[in-house]
Amino acid sequence: MTTSDSRVRQDIPTPDAAIEILMAGNDRFVAGSTLDHDHKTTREALAGVQRPIAIVLRCADSRTSPELIFDQGIGDLFVCAVAGNVPTSELVASMEYAILALGTPLIVVMGHSSCGAVTAAIKTIAENTSLPGALPNLISQITPAVREIEDISAETALSEAIEINVRNGVERLPDMSEIIHEAVDAGRVKIIGGVYDLASGRFQRTS
Ligand SMILES: [Zn+2]
Repeated sequence: MTTSDSRVRQDIPTPDAAIEILMAGNDRFVAGSTLDHDHKTTREALAGVQRPIAIVLRCADSRTSPELIFDQGIGDLFVCAVAGNVPTSELVASMEYAILALGTPLIVVMGHSSCGAVTAAIKTIAENTSLPGALPNLISQITPAVREIEDISAETALSEAIEINVRNGVERLPDMSEIIHEAVDAGRVKIIGGVYDLASGRFQRTS
């Protein structure tokens, strides 16, 4: 095993360098050759500081942990999670903190295959049903992606909606936040999107 070299970064990488670090980490994860993370040393060194290289907007699904998927350690990723990986106002505020206070140079909007939240959004539209509890408010933020699918009964409807939902997130972030908008315009931050495949472990960029 190789020892992680990302411990206690002194500098924040550029947006493109951050993308390269994540994609290389995902290659290692797919291949089953992840780094030997020394969590104890890193934890102690980072007790008073954090310099995450990317914000990851991910689904709450238990199989989509970005630190594992991108083979990163403690302090490397600023993770914002909600079922269906939609940019809710609280998550956008969290991202603003990372950009302003921590200088994080990259936002990754990550959908994933077989997403239960997107499946639920398709179901509510296809069957004209409603969900219990607080779910309708959340699912209503995914349904715009479902409404863009040409054939909701097609076999590809779910994967199509998952991709569109990611794209909507990428596009909406600068509209939802002046801070994000300005950081992107100034070249300090990039926003990318992609879909994580549960079986292969591959994160496939879609934008
Ligand atoms: Zn999901």
